[in-house]
Amino acid sequence: MMNFIKKHLRMAIATVTLALMATGACIMTLSVESPLSIQTQNTAALNSYRENDVHEVSDDPPATAGTTRRPAAATTEAAVEAADTTSSTSTTITTTTATTVTTVTQTSARPTVPHQTQITTHLPTFDPLAEYLPADAAPVPRYAEPSGTAYLTFDDGPSKLTPQILDILAAYHVKATFFVVGHEDAFSREMYRRIAAEGHELAIHTYTHDYSQVYQSVDAYFEDFDRISDLLYSETGMRPTQFRFPGGSSNTVSYKYGGEGLVREIALQAKRRGLTYHDWNVSSGDASGYKQTVEQVLGNVIGPSVSKLEPVVLMHDVPANTATRDALPQMIQQLSAEGYNFDTISHRSIPCQHRHWEE
Ligand code: ZN
Repeated sequence: MMNFIKKHLRMAIATVTLALMATGACIMTLSVESPLSIQTQNTAALNSYRENDVHEVSDDPPATAGTTRRPAAATTEAAVEAADTTSSTSTTITTTTATTVTTVTQTSARPTVPHQTQITTHLPTFDPLAEYLPADAAPVPRYAEPSGTAYLTFDDGPSKLTPQILDILAAYHVKATFFVVGHEDAFSREMYRRIAAEGHELAIHTYTHDYSQVYQSVDAYFEDFDRISDLLYSETGMRPTQFRFPGGSSNTVSYKYGGEGLVREIALQAKRRGLTYHDWNVSSGDASGYKQTVEQVLGNVIGPSVSKLEPVVLMHDVPANTATRDALPQMIQQLSAEGYNFDTISHRSIPCQHRHWEE
């Protein structure tokens, strides 16, 4: 009975918020710099925010983007965990319910990052009655003094699961990172736009994901990279600066195509171009040959994550991974219960890299 009431309350909230959105009346915002509880924005302002604030654009020098707080000498996970460069900031969070608007003021220990100063809350695009959404799905708290920050990452999408993953993230008010591949169809183009519009980080995994093609040479890698960069730019007006190597930076599959030194050469060239790559330090195991259960995915993720200050969780947004989708609500709830906040990859204190090379 309670679930029934909750479902209908959530539906009412979504309906009211949709009505607000439809009139263009107001979009709730989270403001780090200002104590204002509500700010109104029109569509043009939102578009401006999308282009300028959510992700770095290629014209920015890398020093102004997510790389500014990264200690140059820190190259290991131990150094990652030691490099906690947070500062206290007063944060005001506004939430809306069907009949009231409430304001909660918190003290945040998150790093101060210019493009985090204004974050729109989630667009209410999800169906609260969807079967993959638990009846008790609700926004997780954003802790002033978190145990750590978890970075949920999804590789290889978009796929037919992407809308459902986005709905779950929206229901819990969690931001994640999508390392996408290239698809030109209308659905995939819509997914690129939706990922970006809902405040997630749209990042590059390669266009083809074909090892034998992208790992032929440095030029072949960036020919592929530019192809998906152009596609994402045409859909979102942004060029992602964060990427993930197919197979990760420590992969050995590339050896047989471009030789042992190729990934290093690509990494150095990427750095010259102001690009940053990210691996992971927690694997959900959802790319293994056999189909995982929800319990296996959670077992692979929760324990290894809570031993880290900044877990970067590798997951795959592919049609077969319904267990990953179904594990996601519990994953978010359990990590939140352990005191973790969630953020997108360019906000990590330093990149999560298996291999790191300097010129
Ligand atoms: Zn991949």
